[in-house]
Amino acid sequence: MFKQDLCNLCGDCLVECQWIDADRDQAIEWMRLMIAGETTPALQQCITCYSCNEICPQHANPFDLLASLQEKYRVFISEEAAFAEEAKYHFTRELTGYPQAETVMTVCAFEKTHAHLIQGELYELPRVGGKPYNCWMLFSHWGAESVQRKHVQEMVDRLALTGVDEVVCFHDDCYAVLAGLAPEFGIKVPFRPVHLAEHLVRHLQVNSHRIKPLDIDIAYQRPCASRHTPEKEHFIDELFELVGARRVERVYDRKQAMCCASIMLLLGNGDPRPYQEKNILDAKQNGARAIVCLCPMCIGNLSQVAAEHDMPLVFLGDIARMALGEIEPLHT
Ligand code: SF4
Ligand code: SF4
Repeated sequence: MFKQDLCNLCGDCLVECQWIDADRDQAIEWMRLMIAGETTPALQQCITCYSCNEICPQHANPFDLLASLQEKYRVFISEEAAFAEEAKYHFTRELTGYPQAETVMTVCAFEKTHAHLIQGELYELPRVGGKPYNCWMLFSHWGAESVQRKHVQEMVDRLALTGVDEVVCFHDDCYAVLAGLAPEFGIKVPFRPVHLAEHLVRHLQVNSHRIKPLDIDIAYQRPCASRHTPEKEHFIDELFELVGARRVERVYDRKQAMCCASIMLLLGNGDPRPYQEKNILDAKQNGARAIVCLCPMCIGNLSQVAAEHDMPLVFLGDIARMALGEIEPLHT
């Protein structure tokens, strides 16, 4: 939720945005108008990367203001289309067949779409996934954020049916919802959400005697949803250290990270390719031999441009598997 009382109209959110074209005066004026509930060109230029929520020095959540206005003015998706999409994703039957366990992994839709990434000892946990456990993040990208807010309680309740103490989130979006957004929405989460990076670190620490250091310079592709939970970022660095991967310093990393930009296609917001190219070249020019991606969607969306620049993309979980000798290390 946008915290208007914290906003001092500094304009940083829109000035530092990688996608919106506004100088300081323009940014302040647009923020003033949007706080008054009015529309501005920022609503259309925004690609919903969530970065400004992390950029705002006052923690006022400016993206949440834009998101509510994108929905109010139906900037990206009509009410009818949002309703039709919501119906497609909504699980309405009685839920059966869920495991009872202390820890489960929620794999979202990736068990169907990216089963090859969920293999080996790191994933030997009872799993849940599919429609009943949808985190609805797509709708906050799409200018229909109220649809997500409406369904997060269902997601939490269904996960809680497993009786778990911990839910390991395969996808960063699910973690962002459980650890970041649900508490903000006033939803009590009766288990501990565990980020994939934390899960990998814990497993590697227990099995540290088996690690074969990868000895490689890599760049990290930080996904959009990570903006909701920056407090877990230290697990990414701990993981790289454990597997012997050196994270190169580059422009588009950490707070300045550039998302995979493919959401531009969904929003009709232009061609993501020039941005993807800048991102890949930034990694390459700063000495990375591969880009490690936390989000499987980033891998798919960046794959063509990365291939053109001879830059391998590797899933975060796979570098842990490489270090454990489960799969072949990168030959770069
Ligand atoms: S939301 Fe934050 S960054 Fe944006 S104008 Fe307000 S205080 Fe500044
Ligand atoms: S969500 Fe991203 S694109 Fe939209 S205003 Fe914030 S920083 Fe800019």
